[in-house]
Amino acid sequence: MSLADSWRAARPPAAGLHLDSAACSRQSYLALDAAARHARREAEVGGYLAAEAAAPVLDAGRADFAALTGMAAADVVFTTGSRNALDLLLSRWPGTQRTVACLPGEYGPNLAVMAAHGFSRRTLPVDHTGRVVLDEAATALAADPPSLVHVTPVGSHRGLVQPLAQLADICRDLGVALVVDAAQALGQIDCAVGADAVYSSSRKWLAGPRGVGALAVRPEWAHLVAPGPAAGDVNVAAQVGFCVALREHRAAGPAAVRAALAGVGARSRRVLAQLPGWRVVEPPDEPSAITTVVPPAGIDPVDLRAWLIAEHGIVTTAAGVERAPLELTVPVLRISPHVDTTSDDLEVLAAALADAPHGR
Ligand SMILES: *Cc1c(COP(=O)(O)O)cnc(C)c1O
Repeated sequence: MSLADSWRAARPPAAGLHLDSAACSRQSYLALDAAARHARREAEVGGYLAAEAAAPVLDAGRADFAALTGMAAADVVFTTGSRNALDLLLSRWPGTQRTVACLPGEYGPNLAVMAAHGFSRRTLPVDHTGRVVLDEAATALAADPPSLVHVTPVGSHRGLVQPLAQLADICRDLGVALVVDAAQALGQIDCAVGADAVYSSSRKWLAGPRGVGALAVRPEWAHLVAPGPAAGDVNVAAQVGFCVALREHRAAGPAAVRAALAGVGARSRRVLAQLPGWRVVEPPDEPSAITTVVPPAGIDPVDLRAWLIAEHGIVTTAAGVERAPLELTVPVLRISPHVDTTSDDLEVLAAALADAPHGR
């Protein structure tokens, strides 16, 4: 069976066309059932005993996340999501020097977390697409090293892929800490690059449940992520579901999934580039499944998204400039298919967009 077919067969059929994996992918039967079974065990034996019994599954999930991020299983903690991971790391950041270098395409809510923890920000040089210019970035970092580099190698607002491995090499050579927001990158690109910390969310490309994620750090940073005395309750059922999704991802083959996602991204851009008056933002062969389009004048992405759902059952995202306030100048419509999306599906989308009403 092809990867597309096995992915499709592994989960409930979609009601309509789901082109919104960057927001939340569709979970598999196995992940759904594991979480439901865990919740049932909580009712049968009690929540704390059920959690103890789930330890092997949770350990395996930590090991899988570690393998995908190039870390050790002992240095992986579950979080409630990516934002929670960044908040945890920066809240415990040692010392008073708090400067962070990031790219102009940095995720808006991350900028807010950095500011809330007293970090002053500088941006690294990029080209006209938003991609980091490595040699200029290396020069800037060497001249005035920040406390850390924070990079979001695939953004929420654009399917551009940053050269993460090369950036990690530069940071390592300079002895500058590198923190990676892999909310969109995990599953789409190789995230085992030797960073100091990598965090991600369950529900996006890994297709686990909502409200859970993980953070992996190098061993020297373990104290930054150890559970504190004020640690709150955790949704173990969601963690169990995430662990199953991680296991399924590794069983499918991360390299095969990455290649399939890059393929569906390239096909999306080719189909959408045919639409007169619409502008595809990414270079056509960018190896990610996220495609963003700027509609013709008179079509607002927020209205368009609602119309696509109401009239065509097609789920996409309207991404406003707040997603990347230092880079995005106009709102875009984001299309994020998973490996099961067919060329026919993309033609259906293109036909719907060609029909979209102007103005309101
Ligand atoms: C979704 C997203 C986040 C936030 O993830 P949560 O799990 O909702 O906290 C952070 N960064 C990027 C790039 C995202 O796409």
